[in-house]
Amino acid sequence: MAPAPVQRILIVGGGTAGWMAAAALSHILGTAVRIELVESEAVGTVGVGEATIPPIKLFNQLLGIDENTFIRETQATFKLGIAFQDWLRQGHGYFHPFGAYGAPLGVAAFHQYWLRAHDGDSRVGELAEYAPTEVAARLGRFARPEDMPHSPLARMTYAFHFDAGLYARFLRRQSEARGVTRHEGRIAKVKLRDSDGFIHSVKLEDGRELAADFFIDCSGFRGLLIEGALKTGYEDWTHWLPADRAVAMPCARVAPPTPYTQSTALSAGWRWRIPLQHRTGNGYVYSSAFLSDDEAEATLRASLDGPAAGEPNFLRFTTGRRRKTWNKNCLSLGLASGFVEPLESTSIHLIQSGLSKLLLSFPDTGFAQADIDNYNRLMQTEFERVRDFIILHYHATERDDAPLWRQVRAMAIPDSLTQKIDLFRSRGRVFRYEDELFQEASWVAVLMGQGVFPARCDPLTETVAQDQVRHRLNEIRLAIRRAVEQMPTHESYISSRCAVG
Ligand code: FAD
Repeated sequence: MAPAPVQRILIVGGGTAGWMAAAALSHILGTAVRIELVESEAVGTVGVGEATIPPIKLFNQLLGIDENTFIRETQATFKLGIAFQDWLRQGHGYFHPFGAYGAPLGVAAFHQYWLRAHDGDSRVGELAEYAPTEVAARLGRFARPEDMPHSPLARMTYAFHFDAGLYARFLRRQSEARGVTRHEGRIAKVKLRDSDGFIHSVKLEDGRELAADFFIDCSGFRGLLIEGALKTGYEDWTHWLPADRAVAMPCARVAPPTPYTQSTALSAGWRWRIPLQHRTGNGYVYSSAFLSDDEAEATLRASLDGPAAGEPNFLRFTTGRRRKTWNKNCLSLGLASGFVEPLESTSIHLIQSGLSKLLLSFPDTGFAQADIDNYNRLMQTEFERVRDFIILHYHATERDDAPLWRQVRAMAIPDSLTQKIDLFRSRGRVFRYEDELFQEASWVAVLMGQGVFPARCDPLTETVAQDQVRHRLNEIRLAIRRAVEQMPTHESYISSRCAVG
Protein backbone atom coordinates (compact mmCIF):
# COMPACT_ATOMS: atom_id res chain seq x y z
CA MET A 1 0.00 0.00 0.00
CA ALA A 2 1.50 3.34 -1.07
CA PRO A 3 1.96 5.65 1.93
CA ALA A 4 1.48 8.93 -0.02
CA PRO A 5 -0.37 11.64 1.89
CA VAL A 6 -3.59 12.79 0.29
CA GLN A 7 -3.11 16.40 -0.77
CA ARG A 8 -5.02 16.46 -4.06
CA ILE A 9 -8.48 15.02 -4.65
CA LEU A 10 -10.02 14.80 -8.11
CA ILE A 11 -13.77 14.30 -8.28
CA VAL A 12 -14.75 12.82 -11.63
CA GLY A 13 -18.30 13.83 -12.53
CA GLY A 14 -20.51 16.81 -11.81
CA GLY A 15 -23.92 15.26 -11.24
CA THR A 16 -25.61 15.18 -7.84
CA ALA A 17 -22.90 12.85 -6.50
CA GLY A 18 -19.97 14.93 -7.75
CA TRP A 19 -21.21 18.23 -6.42
CA MET A 20 -22.39 16.74 -3.11
CA ALA A 21 -18.87 15.34 -2.70
CA ALA A 22 -17.24 18.66 -3.66
CA ALA A 23 -19.47 20.65 -1.30
CA ALA A 24 -19.03 18.30 1.67
CA LEU A 25 -15.29 17.75 1.30
CA SER A 26 -14.49 21.43 0.73
CA HIS A 27 -16.63 22.39 3.70
CA ILE A 28 -15.07 19.88 6.06
CA LEU A 29 -11.49 19.64 4.85
CA GLY A 30 -11.17 23.34 4.04
CA THR A 31 -8.03 24.26 2.18
CA ALA A 32 -5.93 21.48 3.75
CA VAL A 33 -6.55 19.45 0.58
CA ARG A 34 -6.75 20.70 -3.00
CA ILE A 35 -10.09 19.64 -4.49
CA GLU A 36 -10.79 19.66 -8.22
CA LEU A 37 -13.77 18.39 -10.18
CA VAL A 38 -14.00 17.47 -13.83
CA GLU A 39 -17.25 17.12 -15.71
CA SER A 40 -18.37 17.09 -19.30
CA GLU A 41 -21.38 18.99 -20.50
CA ALA A 42 -21.28 16.89 -23.66
CA VAL A 43 -21.71 13.69 -21.60
CA GLY A 44 -24.32 15.31 -19.33
CA THR A 45 -25.90 13.96 -16.16
CA VAL A 46 -28.52 11.28 -15.65
CA GLY A 47 -31.12 14.06 -15.29
CA VAL A 48 -33.37 12.36 -12.70
CA GLY A 49 -33.34 11.96 -8.91
CA GLU A 50 -35.83 14.31 -7.36
CA ALA A 51 -37.13 12.63 -4.21
CA THR A 52 -35.21 12.33 -0.95
CA ILE A 53 -35.53 10.98 2.59
CA PRO A 54 -35.17 12.89 5.89
CA PRO A 55 -31.38 12.57 6.45
CA ILE A 56 -30.85 15.03 3.55
CA LYS A 57 -31.78 17.76 6.03
CA LEU A 58 -28.68 16.88 8.04
CA PHE A 59 -26.52 17.09 4.95
CA ASN A 60 -27.80 20.58 4.15
CA GLN A 61 -27.40 21.64 7.78
CA LEU A 62 -23.85 20.34 7.86
CA LEU A 63 -23.05 22.54 4.87
CA GLY A 64 -24.64 25.54 6.58
CA ILE A 65 -27.33 25.80 3.90
CA ASP A 66 -30.34 27.91 4.82
CA GLU A 67 -33.37 25.71 4.17
CA ASN A 68 -35.60 28.42 2.73
CA THR A 69 -32.86 29.47 0.32
CA PHE A 70 -32.42 25.84 -0.71
CA ILE A 71 -36.18 25.46 -1.27
CA ARG A 72 -36.32 28.56 -3.46
CA GLU A 73 -33.17 27.74 -5.43
CA THR A 74 -34.12 24.14 -6.18
CA GLN A 75 -37.89 24.63 -6.66
CA ALA A 76 -38.34 22.18 -3.81
CA THR A 77 -41.48 20.98 -2.07
CA PHE A 78 -41.74 19.11 1.23
CA LYS A 79 -42.09 15.35 1.42
CA LEU A 80 -43.76 13.52 4.31
CA GLY A 81 -43.70 10.03 2.86
CA ILE A 82 -44.73 7.91 -0.10
CA ALA A 83 -48.23 6.83 -1.17
CA PHE A 84 -48.12 3.34 -2.68
CA GLN A 85 -51.00 2.41 -4.96
CA ASP A 86 -51.80 -1.02 -6.43
CA TRP A 87 -48.72 -2.70 -4.94
CA LEU A 88 -50.48 -5.30 -2.83
CA ARG A 89 -53.33 -5.67 -5.31
CA GLN A 90 -55.04 -3.39 -7.80
CA GLY A 91 -57.29 -0.89 -6.04
CA HIS A 92 -55.39 -1.15 -2.75
CA GLY A 93 -53.22 1.65 -1.37
CA TYR A 94 -51.07 2.33 1.65
CA PHE A 95 -48.69 5.02 2.85
CA HIS A 96 -45.10 4.87 4.08
CA PRO A 97 -44.94 7.85 6.44
CA PHE A 98 -41.68 9.42 7.60
CA GLY A 99 -41.04 9.33 11.34
CA ALA A 100 -42.59 7.30 14.10
CA TYR A 101 -46.16 6.26 14.85
CA GLY A 102 -47.99 7.61 17.89
CA ALA A 103 -46.17 8.21 21.15
CA PRO A 104 -44.51 5.93 23.72
CA LEU A 105 -47.09 3.86 25.62
CA GLY A 106 -44.76 1.50 27.46
CA VAL A 107 -41.73 -0.68 26.82
CA ALA A 108 -43.05 -2.21 23.60
CA ALA A 109 -43.13 -0.37 20.27
CA PHE A 110 -46.21 1.77 19.60
CA HIS A 111 -47.54 -0.43 16.80
CA GLN A 112 -47.61 -3.39 19.21
CA TYR A 113 -50.13 -1.62 21.48
CA TRP A 114 -52.13 -0.63 18.44
CA LEU A 115 -52.17 -4.26 17.23
CA ARG A 116 -53.39 -5.47 20.59
CA ALA A 117 -56.10 -2.81 20.96
CA HIS A 118 -57.15 -2.90 17.32
CA ASP A 119 -57.92 -6.59 17.42
CA GLY A 120 -61.71 -6.69 17.18
CA ASP A 121 -62.22 -3.05 18.20
CA SER A 122 -63.05 -0.74 15.31
CA ARG A 123 -62.99 2.36 17.59
CA VAL A 124 -59.20 2.17 17.64
CA GLY A 125 -59.00 3.18 13.97
CA GLU A 126 -56.24 2.42 11.51
CA LEU A 127 -52.53 2.65 12.33
CA ALA A 128 -52.34 5.34 9.63
CA GLU A 129 -54.28 7.68 11.90
CA TYR A 130 -51.39 7.63 14.37
CA ALA A 131 -48.71 8.74 11.93
CA PRO A 132 -48.59 12.56 12.05
CA THR A 133 -46.85 12.76 8.69
CA GLU A 134 -49.42 10.55 7.01
CA VAL A 135 -52.39 12.44 8.45
CA ALA A 136 -50.82 15.75 7.35
CA ALA A 137 -49.90 14.39 3.92
CA ARG A 138 -53.37 13.07 3.21
CA LEU A 139 -54.89 16.45 4.10
CA GLY A 140 -52.28 18.31 2.02
CA ARG A 141 -50.96 20.14 5.09
CA PHE A 142 -47.45 21.03 6.14
CA ALA A 143 -45.57 22.89 8.86
CA ARG A 144 -42.10 22.35 10.27
CA PRO A 145 -41.89 20.68 13.70
CA GLU A 146 -40.36 23.86 15.16
CA ASP A 147 -43.54 25.72 14.18
CA MET A 148 -45.51 23.43 16.53
CA PRO A 149 -43.18 22.83 19.49
CA HIS A 150 -45.84 21.72 21.97
CA SER A 151 -47.95 19.53 19.73
CA PRO A 152 -47.67 15.81 18.87
CA LEU A 153 -46.29 17.02 15.55
CA ALA A 154 -43.10 18.31 17.15
CA ARG A 155 -41.55 14.88 16.47
CA MET A 156 -42.47 14.99 12.80
CA THR A 157 -39.76 14.57 10.23
CA TYR A 158 -39.65 15.47 6.56
CA ALA A 159 -37.59 15.46 3.38
CA PHE A 160 -37.83 17.24 0.02
CA HIS A 161 -38.63 16.83 -3.62
CA PHE A 162 -36.28 19.03 -5.63
CA ASP A 163 -34.90 19.68 -9.07
CA ALA A 164 -31.67 17.68 -9.02
CA GLY A 165 -30.06 19.83 -11.73
CA LEU A 166 -30.71 22.97 -9.72
CA TYR A 167 -29.41 21.29 -6.56
CA ALA A 168 -26.15 20.39 -8.32
CA ARG A 169 -25.80 24.00 -9.51
CA PHE A 170 -26.51 25.27 -5.99
CA LEU A 171 -23.83 23.01 -4.52
CA ARG A 172 -21.44 23.97 -7.30
CA ARG A 173 -21.69 27.64 -6.34
CA GLN A 174 -20.99 26.73 -2.72
CA SER A 175 -18.06 24.50 -3.63
CA GLU A 176 -16.42 27.00 -5.97
CA ALA A 177 -16.78 29.70 -3.31
CA ARG A 178 -14.81 27.38 -1.01
CA GLY A 179 -12.01 26.93 -3.50
CA VAL A 180 -13.01 23.87 -5.54
CA THR A 181 -11.62 24.12 -9.09
CA ARG A 182 -13.91 22.89 -11.86
CA HIS A 183 -12.60 21.59 -15.19
CA GLU A 184 -14.85 21.21 -18.19
CA GLY A 185 -13.86 18.43 -20.55
CA ARG A 186 -14.34 14.83 -21.52
CA ILE A 187 -12.02 12.22 -20.04
CA ALA A 188 -10.56 10.08 -22.80
CA LYS A 189 -8.07 8.00 -20.83
CA VAL A 190 -7.25 6.96 -17.28
CA LYS A 191 -3.56 6.42 -16.50
CA LEU A 192 -2.58 3.84 -13.84
CA ARG A 193 0.73 3.78 -11.95
CA ASP A 194 2.91 0.86 -13.02
CA SER A 195 4.15 0.27 -9.48
CA ASP A 196 0.85 -0.55 -7.75
CA GLY A 197 -2.01 -0.12 -10.22
CA PHE A 198 -3.26 2.98 -8.42
CA ILE A 199 -4.76 5.72 -10.57
CA HIS A 200 -2.20 8.36 -11.52
CA SER A 201 -4.22 10.80 -13.64
CA VAL A 202 -7.01 11.27 -16.15
CA LYS A 203 -6.38 12.63 -19.61
CA LEU A 204 -8.98 14.83 -21.29
CA GLU A 205 -9.80 14.73 -24.99
CA ASP A 206 -8.07 18.10 -25.48
CA GLY A 207 -4.81 16.73 -24.05
CA ARG A 208 -4.99 18.22 -20.53
CA GLU A 209 -3.92 15.79 -17.82
CA LEU A 210 -5.29 15.96 -14.26
CA ALA A 211 -3.34 14.08 -11.60
CA ALA A 212 -4.36 13.52 -7.97
CA ASP A 213 -3.62 11.37 -4.93
CA PHE A 214 -7.22 10.33 -4.38
CA PHE A 215 -9.98 9.99 -7.00
CA ILE A 216 -13.70 10.09 -6.29
CA ASP A 217 -15.53 8.42 -9.13
CA CYS A 218 -18.90 10.14 -9.59
CA SER A 219 -19.06 9.42 -13.31
CA GLY A 220 -22.49 7.78 -13.20
CA PHE A 221 -23.50 4.31 -14.38
CA ARG A 222 -20.36 3.96 -16.51
CA GLY A 223 -18.06 4.00 -13.45
CA LEU A 224 -15.24 5.38 -15.57
CA LEU A 225 -12.50 4.86 -12.97
CA ILE A 226 -13.82 2.23 -10.55
CA GLU A 227 -14.89 -0.13 -13.35
CA GLY A 228 -13.48 1.22 -16.59
CA ALA A 229 -9.93 1.56 -15.24
CA LEU A 230 -9.79 -0.62 -12.12
CA LYS A 231 -12.15 -3.45 -13.25
CA THR A 232 -13.56 -3.75 -9.76
CA GLY A 233 -16.56 -5.91 -10.68
CA TYR A 234 -20.29 -5.58 -10.13
CA GLU A 235 -22.76 -7.70 -8.20
CA ASP A 236 -25.93 -7.99 -10.26
CA TRP A 237 -29.24 -8.09 -8.33
CA THR A 238 -31.55 -8.25 -11.34
CA HIS A 239 -32.83 -11.68 -10.28
CA TRP A 240 -34.41 -9.97 -7.26
CA LEU A 241 -35.22 -6.60 -8.78
CA PRO A 242 -35.89 -7.19 -12.49
CA ALA A 243 -36.53 -3.57 -13.52
CA ASP A 244 -33.71 -2.45 -15.81
CA ARG A 245 -35.16 0.59 -17.60
CA ALA A 246 -36.91 3.82 -16.85
CA VAL A 247 -38.47 6.56 -18.88
CA ALA A 248 -38.82 9.96 -17.23
CA MET A 249 -40.92 12.86 -18.47
CA PRO A 250 -41.83 15.99 -16.54
CA CYS A 251 -45.19 17.66 -17.03
CA ALA A 252 -46.83 20.93 -16.07
CA ARG A 253 -48.23 20.98 -12.57
CA VAL A 254 -52.01 21.36 -12.65
CA ALA A 255 -52.90 20.98 -8.95
CA PRO A 256 -51.35 22.04 -5.64
CA PRO A 257 -48.19 20.00 -4.94
CA THR A 258 -48.79 17.01 -2.68
CA PRO A 259 -46.40 16.80 0.29
CA TYR A 260 -45.62 13.20 -0.68
CA THR A 261 -44.37 11.10 -3.59
CA GLN A 262 -46.79 8.81 -5.38
CA SER A 263 -45.75 5.36 -6.51
CA THR A 264 -48.23 3.32 -8.54
CA ALA A 265 -47.53 -0.27 -9.49
CA LEU A 266 -48.13 -0.97 -13.19
CA SER A 267 -48.01 -4.14 -15.26
CA ALA A 268 -44.21 -4.22 -15.75
CA GLY A 269 -42.97 -2.04 -12.88
CA TRP A 270 -44.15 1.16 -11.30
CA ARG A 271 -44.70 4.84 -11.97
CA TRP A 272 -43.56 7.81 -9.89
CA ARG A 273 -45.17 11.21 -9.55
CA ILE A 274 -43.01 13.83 -7.80
CA PRO A 275 -44.41 17.32 -7.30
CA LEU A 276 -41.99 20.24 -7.54
CA GLN A 277 -42.88 23.92 -7.42
CA HIS A 278 -42.41 24.49 -11.15
CA ARG A 279 -43.42 21.10 -12.58
CA THR A 280 -44.26 17.49 -11.76
CA GLY A 281 -41.64 14.79 -12.26
CA ASN A 282 -42.93 11.51 -13.71
CA GLY A 283 -41.33 8.26 -14.63
CA TYR A 284 -42.02 4.61 -15.32
CA VAL A 285 -39.47 2.11 -13.96
CA TYR A 286 -39.92 -1.19 -15.81
CA SER A 287 -38.44 -4.47 -16.81
CA SER A 288 -37.47 -4.70 -20.47
CA ALA A 289 -38.27 -8.42 -20.33
CA PHE A 290 -41.94 -7.52 -20.02
CA LEU A 291 -42.38 -4.14 -21.72
CA SER A 292 -40.95 -2.30 -24.72
CA ASP A 293 -39.66 1.26 -24.49
CA ASP A 294 -42.47 2.46 -26.77
CA GLU A 295 -45.13 0.87 -24.58
CA ALA A 296 -43.57 2.37 -21.45
CA GLU A 297 -43.50 5.83 -22.98
CA ALA A 298 -47.09 5.55 -24.21
CA THR A 299 -48.29 4.39 -20.77
CA LEU A 300 -46.48 7.23 -19.03
CA ARG A 301 -47.70 9.87 -21.49
CA ALA A 302 -51.28 8.70 -21.12
CA SER A 303 -51.12 9.15 -17.35
CA LEU A 304 -49.57 12.64 -17.18
CA ASP A 305 -51.57 15.14 -15.12
CA GLY A 306 -50.75 18.06 -17.41
CA PRO A 307 -49.02 18.82 -20.73
CA ALA A 308 -45.58 17.19 -21.10
CA ALA A 309 -42.81 19.63 -20.16
CA GLY A 310 -39.92 17.89 -21.89
CA GLU A 311 -38.88 15.01 -24.07
CA PRO A 312 -38.82 11.47 -22.67
CA ASN A 313 -35.51 10.56 -21.03
CA PHE A 314 -34.81 6.82 -21.39
CA LEU A 315 -32.44 5.24 -18.87
CA ARG A 316 -30.93 1.79 -18.70
CA PHE A 317 -29.47 0.29 -15.56
CA THR A 318 -28.41 -2.90 -13.89
CA THR A 319 -29.53 -3.10 -10.30
CA GLY A 320 -26.70 -4.06 -8.01
CA ARG A 321 -23.56 -2.74 -6.41
CA ARG A 322 -19.89 -2.38 -7.13
CA ARG A 323 -18.03 -5.25 -5.44
CA LYS A 324 -15.78 -2.73 -3.73
CA THR A 325 -17.03 0.82 -3.49
CA TRP A 326 -13.47 1.88 -2.55
CA ASN A 327 -10.67 0.25 -4.54
CA LYS A 328 -7.03 1.40 -4.24
CA ASN A 329 -7.04 5.22 -4.44
CA CYS A 330 -10.50 5.41 -6.01
CA LEU A 331 -13.76 5.72 -4.11
CA SER A 332 -17.00 5.52 -6.06
CA LEU A 333 -20.10 7.46 -5.14
CA GLY A 334 -23.57 7.73 -6.63
CA LEU A 335 -24.48 5.66 -9.65
CA ALA A 336 -20.82 4.68 -10.13
CA SER A 337 -21.03 2.73 -6.86
CA GLY A 338 -24.26 0.88 -7.60
CA PHE A 339 -27.95 1.38 -8.10
CA VAL A 340 -31.14 0.20 -6.47
CA GLU A 341 -34.29 1.51 -8.13
CA PRO A 342 -35.69 4.73 -6.65
CA LEU A 343 -38.79 3.20 -5.03
CA GLU A 344 -37.80 4.52 -1.59
CA SER A 345 -35.68 7.43 -2.86
CA THR A 346 -32.46 6.04 -1.44
CA SER A 347 -29.78 6.84 -4.04
CA ILE A 348 -29.03 10.41 -2.96
CA HIS A 349 -28.98 9.19 0.61
CA LEU A 350 -26.39 6.55 -0.29
CA ILE A 351 -24.18 9.35 -1.65
CA GLN A 352 -24.55 11.21 1.64
CA SER A 353 -23.90 8.06 3.62
CA GLY A 354 -20.83 7.24 1.53
CA LEU A 355 -19.44 10.71 2.15
CA SER A 356 -19.97 10.59 5.89
CA LYS A 357 -18.32 7.17 6.09
CA LEU A 358 -15.42 8.46 3.99
CA LEU A 359 -14.89 11.36 6.38
CA LEU A 360 -14.78 8.86 9.26
CA SER A 361 -11.96 6.99 7.48
CA PHE A 362 -10.27 9.83 5.62
CA PRO A 363 -6.85 8.75 4.35
CA ASP A 364 -4.97 11.92 5.30
CA THR A 365 -1.47 10.49 5.58
CA GLY A 366 -1.98 7.65 3.11
CA PHE A 367 -4.17 4.67 2.36
CA ALA A 368 -4.63 1.96 5.00
CA GLN A 369 -6.20 -1.29 3.79
CA ALA A 370 -8.05 -1.64 7.12
CA ASP A 371 -9.87 1.65 6.47
CA ILE A 372 -10.72 0.64 2.93
CA ASP A 373 -12.00 -2.80 3.96
CA ASN A 374 -14.08 -1.31 6.74
CA TYR A 375 -15.58 1.28 4.42
CA ASN A 376 -16.46 -1.40 1.89
CA ARG A 377 -18.07 -3.59 4.54
CA LEU A 378 -20.19 -0.69 5.82
CA MET A 379 -21.33 0.29 2.33
CA GLN A 380 -22.07 -3.32 1.41
CA THR A 381 -24.35 -3.64 4.44
CA GLU A 382 -26.03 -0.33 3.67
CA PHE A 383 -26.72 -1.29 0.06
CA GLU A 384 -27.97 -4.75 1.02
CA ARG A 385 -30.41 -3.46 3.63
CA VAL A 386 -31.84 -0.97 1.14
CA ARG A 387 -32.08 -3.77 -1.43
CA ASP A 388 -34.03 -5.97 1.00
CA PHE A 389 -36.49 -3.19 1.79
CA ILE A 390 -37.16 -2.63 -1.92
CA ILE A 391 -37.53 -6.36 -2.63
CA LEU A 392 -40.19 -6.53 0.11
CA HIS A 393 -42.45 -4.18 -1.90
CA TYR A 394 -42.32 -6.50 -4.90
CA HIS A 395 -42.26 -9.90 -3.28
CA ALA A 396 -45.07 -9.39 -0.75
CA THR A 397 -47.73 -8.85 -3.40
CA GLU A 398 -50.96 -10.65 -4.19
CA ARG A 399 -50.88 -9.47 -7.79
CA ASP A 400 -50.94 -12.13 -10.46
CA ASP A 401 -52.27 -10.05 -13.35
CA ALA A 402 -48.94 -9.80 -15.20
CA PRO A 403 -45.81 -11.96 -15.65
CA LEU A 404 -43.60 -9.55 -13.66
CA TRP A 405 -45.79 -9.86 -10.58
CA ARG A 406 -46.04 -13.65 -10.85
CA GLN A 407 -42.24 -13.82 -11.10
CA VAL A 408 -41.47 -11.63 -8.08
CA ARG A 409 -44.11 -13.32 -5.91
CA ALA A 410 -42.59 -16.71 -6.54
CA MET A 411 -38.89 -15.82 -6.45
CA ALA A 412 -36.49 -16.80 -3.66
CA ILE A 413 -35.52 -13.75 -1.61
CA PRO A 414 -32.35 -12.99 0.39
CA ASP A 415 -32.18 -14.79 3.76
CA SER A 416 -31.83 -11.46 5.53
CA LEU A 417 -35.26 -10.42 4.23
CA THR A 418 -36.86 -13.78 4.94
CA GLN A 419 -35.72 -13.41 8.54
CA LYS A 420 -37.25 -9.91 8.80
CA ILE A 421 -40.58 -11.11 7.40
CA ASP A 422 -40.68 -14.23 9.61
CA LEU A 423 -39.95 -12.23 12.76
CA PHE A 424 -42.69 -9.77 11.92
CA ARG A 425 -45.22 -12.48 11.13
CA SER A 426 -44.51 -14.12 14.47
CA ARG A 427 -44.93 -11.23 17.00
CA GLY A 428 -44.79 -8.03 14.95
CA ARG A 429 -41.17 -7.43 15.93
CA VAL A 430 -38.67 -5.53 13.83
CA PHE A 431 -34.96 -5.85 14.60
CA ARG A 432 -32.53 -3.48 12.94
CA TYR A 433 -28.92 -4.48 12.39
CA GLU A 434 -25.72 -2.51 11.97
CA ASP A 435 -27.24 0.94 11.98
CA GLU A 436 -29.43 0.14 8.99
CA LEU A 437 -31.19 3.00 7.29
CA PHE A 438 -34.88 2.21 7.56
CA GLN A 439 -36.40 2.61 11.00
CA GLU A 440 -38.84 0.29 12.69
CA ALA A 441 -41.86 2.40 11.64
CA SER A 442 -40.83 2.18 7.97
CA TRP A 443 -40.67 -1.60 8.08
CA VAL A 444 -44.01 -1.75 9.92
CA ALA A 445 -45.68 0.53 7.35
CA VAL A 446 -44.45 -1.42 4.34
CA LEU A 447 -44.84 -4.90 5.85
CA MET A 448 -48.46 -4.28 6.83
CA GLY A 449 -49.10 -2.21 3.69
CA GLN A 450 -47.97 -5.23 1.69
CA GLY A 451 -50.26 -7.51 3.64
CA VAL A 452 -47.75 -9.06 6.07
CA PHE A 453 -49.48 -9.14 9.47
CA PRO A 454 -48.27 -10.62 12.76
CA ALA A 455 -49.97 -13.69 14.20
CA ARG A 456 -50.00 -11.97 17.60
CA CYS A 457 -48.55 -8.89 19.23
CA ASP A 458 -45.59 -8.64 21.58
CA PRO A 459 -46.46 -9.98 25.07
CA LEU A 460 -44.65 -6.98 26.54
CA THR A 461 -47.78 -4.95 25.75
CA GLU A 462 -49.60 -6.79 28.54
CA THR A 463 -47.79 -4.75 31.17
CA VAL A 464 -50.18 -1.89 30.35
CA ALA A 465 -53.93 -2.39 31.01
CA GLN A 466 -56.01 -2.61 27.86
CA ASP A 467 -58.39 0.18 28.96
CA GLN A 468 -55.48 2.46 29.54
CA VAL A 469 -54.06 1.64 26.11
CA ARG A 470 -57.40 2.37 24.40
CA HIS A 471 -57.75 5.61 26.31
CA ARG A 472 -54.24 6.81 25.37
CA LEU A 473 -54.69 5.73 21.76
CA ASN A 474 -57.83 7.80 21.53
CA GLU A 475 -56.06 10.81 23.03
CA ILE A 476 -53.10 10.49 20.68
CA ARG A 477 -55.29 10.10 17.61
CA LEU A 478 -57.38 13.16 18.45
CA ALA A 479 -54.34 15.26 19.34
CA ILE A 480 -52.70 14.45 16.00
CA ARG A 481 -55.86 15.23 14.09
CA ARG A 482 -56.42 18.55 15.88
CA ALA A 483 -52.81 19.62 15.43
CA VAL A 484 -52.82 18.76 11.72
CA GLU A 485 -55.99 20.78 11.21
CA GLN A 486 -54.12 23.82 12.54
CA MET A 487 -51.41 23.45 9.90
CA PRO A 488 -51.43 25.57 6.73
CA THR A 489 -51.74 23.89 3.39
CA HIS A 490 -48.48 22.66 1.92
CA GLU A 491 -48.70 25.11 -0.95
CA SER A 492 -49.39 28.13 1.24
CA TYR A 493 -46.60 27.13 3.62
CA ILE A 494 -44.10 27.17 0.76
CA SER A 495 -45.30 30.47 -0.66
CA SER A 496 -45.55 32.26 2.68
CA ARG A 497 -42.80 30.71 4.83
CA CYS A 498 -40.13 29.75 2.31
CA ALA A 499 -40.32 32.79 0.05
CA VAL A 500 -37.87 34.77 2.18
CA GLY A 501 -34.53 33.78 3.65
P1 FAD B 1 -24.72 11.39 -13.16
O1 FAD B 1 -25.82 12.34 -12.88
O2 FAD B 1 -24.88 10.47 -14.32
O3 FAD B 1 -23.41 12.25 -13.35
C1 FAD B 1 -22.26 11.71 -13.96
C2 FAD B 1 -21.25 12.81 -14.20
O4 FAD B 1 -20.07 12.25 -14.71
C3 FAD B 1 -21.70 13.88 -15.17
O5 FAD B 1 -21.34 15.14 -14.72
C4 FAD B 1 -20.92 13.53 -16.43
O6 FAD B 1 -20.65 14.67 -17.21
C5 FAD B 1 -19.64 12.99 -15.82
N1 FAD B 1 -18.91 12.13 -16.74
C6 FAD B 1 -19.22 10.89 -17.15
N2 FAD B 1 -18.33 10.45 -18.05
C7 FAD B 1 -17.43 11.45 -18.20
C8 FAD B 1 -16.28 11.61 -18.99
N3 FAD B 1 -15.84 10.67 -19.87
N4 FAD B 1 -15.58 12.75 -18.89
C9 FAD B 1 -15.97 13.74 -18.04
N5 FAD B 1 -17.07 13.64 -17.27
C10 FAD B 1 -17.79 12.51 -17.36
N6 FAD B 1 -32.20 9.12 -6.44
C11 FAD B 1 -32.89 9.60 -5.40
O7 FAD B 1 -32.32 9.76 -4.31
N7 FAD B 1 -34.21 9.91 -5.54
C12 FAD B 1 -34.89 9.68 -6.68
O8 FAD B 1 -36.07 10.00 -6.75
C13 FAD B 1 -34.20 9.10 -7.76
N8 FAD B 1 -34.84 8.79 -8.91
C14 FAD B 1 -34.14 8.17 -9.91
C15 FAD B 1 -34.81 7.69 -11.05
C16 FAD B 1 -34.12 6.99 -12.02
C17 FAD B 1 -34.87 6.45 -13.21
C18 FAD B 1 -32.73 6.79 -11.91
C19 FAD B 1 -31.97 6.07 -12.98
C20 FAD B 1 -32.06 7.26 -10.80
C21 FAD B 1 -32.76 7.92 -9.79
N9 FAD B 1 -32.11 8.34 -8.65
C22 FAD B 1 -32.82 8.85 -7.61
C23 FAD B 1 -30.66 8.24 -8.54
C24 FAD B 1 -30.06 9.63 -8.77
O9 FAD B 1 -30.45 10.10 -10.04
C25 FAD B 1 -28.55 9.56 -8.69
O10 FAD B 1 -28.16 8.94 -7.50
C26 FAD B 1 -27.96 10.95 -8.68
O11 FAD B 1 -28.46 11.71 -9.72
C27 FAD B 1 -26.47 10.88 -8.76
O12 FAD B 1 -26.05 10.61 -10.06
P2 FAD B 1 -24.51 10.66 -10.33
O13 FAD B 1 -24.02 12.02 -9.97
O14 FAD B 1 -23.90 9.49 -9.70
O15 FAD B 1 -24.40 10.44 -11.91
